[in-house]
Amino acid sequence: MVASTDLAVPARAMAIAAHPDDVEFGAGGTLAKWAAAGCQVQHVICTDGSKGSWDPDEDVAKLVLTRQAEQRDASRRLGASGDVVFLGWPDGELESGTRQRSQIAGAIRRFRPDVVLGHDPWRRYRLHPDHRHAGYLAVEGVVAARDPHFFPEQALPHHRPATLLLFEADEPDHVEDVSGFVDDKIAALLAHRSQLRSTMRVDDPASTSQLEQFRSEVFAVLREHGALAGLTHGEAFKAITDL
Ligand SMILES: [Zn+2]
Repeated sequence: MVASTDLAVPARAMAIAAHPDDVEFGAGGTLAKWAAAGCQVQHVICTDGSKGSWDPDEDVAKLVLTRQAEQRDASRRLGASGDVVFLGWPDGELESGTRQRSQIAGAIRRFRPDVVLGHDPWRRYRLHPDHRHAGYLAVEGVVAARDPHFFPEQALPHHRPATLLLFEADEPDHVEDVSGFVDDKIAALLAHRSQLRSTMRVDDPASTSQLEQFRSEVFAVLREHGALAGLTHGEAFKAITDL
């Protein structure tokens, strides 16, 4: 199968993820590219990120605020406004129920994105429940947002996005060329300073060799994704256009 490439730059794109930093890993290069071309980018983060520490003595209330600030910084580094929607569900306990779906549908109806991005909930052998549930919420939030009789109490006009892009895709079939935007993606990832040790394996941010190692790992993944479509550096997705 040959993957499709490069959607037309959307006017508005909404990225829905479980935790601060997921969007940057999944689609940071794509969002940086679109933002540079004038796209408005909105992050929606479903959980409070309060489990994101290996330190048993961590002050988790403080960690939540730190991670929100980091996510706003990452959004700005991608060229977005830094205005991030935080739903604030407890990290590790996200569910994809009606209340959460209503929140996502409301966010979609307010922002009116042309493209919605989210975790692929059908990725096999995925362990983290938040990623699975956030994926279902992106899919099911689109369904609810597009039809007028879902959540009428929102008193918001319904909205049907054109495309849903699922990152961490089980069966990727679309690649965005991110050549020229890899450094933006990495800069946005590094904005998540509290996560350097746990998700980026950087124990010491002053260590040039650890940062280089992280950069080379990011580049390796983007080369692998790009190869699906004959590109040097890409981000791969499952694209759903029949919304
Ligand atoms: Zn995550």
